[in-house]
Amino acid sequence: MTESKRFGVVSFVGRPNVGKSSLINRLVGQKVSIVSRRPQTTWREITGIFTGENAQLVLVDSPGLHKPRKQLLSRRANQSARGAGTGADLVCQVVDARHWTAEDQQVLDHFRDIAAPLWLIMNKVDLLDSLTQVLPRISELQTKHSWVEMVPVSAKSGYNCEHLLSTLSSAVPEGPPGYDTEMLSTLPARFLAAEIVREQIFRQMGDEIPYTSGVEVSRFEDHGDHVELDISIWCETKGQKAALIGAKGVRLKSIGSSARIQLERMFNCPVHLMQQVKVKKGWADDHRAVTQLGYGE
Ligand code: GDP
Ligand code: MG
Repeated sequence: MTESKRFGVVSFVGRPNVGKSSLINRLVGQKVSIVSRRPQTTWREITGIFTGENAQLVLVDSPGLHKPRKQLLSRRANQSARGAGTGADLVCQVVDARHWTAEDQQVLDHFRDIAAPLWLIMNKVDLLDSLTQVLPRISELQTKHSWVEMVPVSAKSGYNCEHLLSTLSSAVPEGPPGYDTEMLSTLPARFLAAEIVREQIFRQMGDEIPYTSGVEVSRFEDHGDHVELDISIWCETKGQKAALIGAKGVRLKSIGSSARIQLERMFNCPVHLMQQVKVKKGWADDHRAVTQLGYGE
């Protein structure tokens, strides 16, 4: 493989639910960041790596800046989002192409004076009535800030994502790739595995589970031809544990089998998955537990 000629870190910022994680998954072409219909499910930065012919891009998915909450877990997430602009060669503010909200304005106010070029990514254009609405939306959003670039995309359909990749690739500084060209993420496989299980919990539990459910990989063994994983799912109350397991264990089984399909795709081999649900009151407030689960520094 030829060495890419440019290398850069691109940070994706924006309010929750605009599609940052979906977009990074689309750009990397593989699931590295959990996607959820409910906002605020990404607690820490997830980093994807795209290696193209001309450039390697490190794509940083920042947790949405959200309103401060009491819990430690939430404070950590906010700290992480504030650092997002620093150290990046380029910052992309992602918005829902259909509307600009007060929260989008807050994000802009936060990042408008950073040293790195600020781009606007108008996502979800598939939800506009027609693509003829894109140009008027661009004109309107031009009044908010003089963005270095404005790129309409759809993470869902893939519309214009190739174009975004090639524009980003020519905008980052010259330099050799910072990571092995086979790598898709700077995060360890066991963290990605926990994220995949967590995504299934959010998908399958709907409103029944609070955000404060944690997933820990207690054993991770790569045997080459297969991977063995022991997963502990933490929740706050016995009631949540019962809901997670479901009648006759059906819920937990379904979470496990959907997660296993995704894990097998990621590891490209059979995955043996063991799950356990554990109750620990107040875990989201417990420094040690939060750090142990990988949400810390
Ligand atoms: P984040 O909070 O900014 O990381 O947003 P997510 O990537 O988790 O996406 C939030 C929701 O928007 C999910 O339900 C996604 O499926 C959905 N979504 C993301 N991108 C698009 C898009 O381009 N089109 C449509 N229709 N939905 C999208
Ligand atoms: Mg996200």
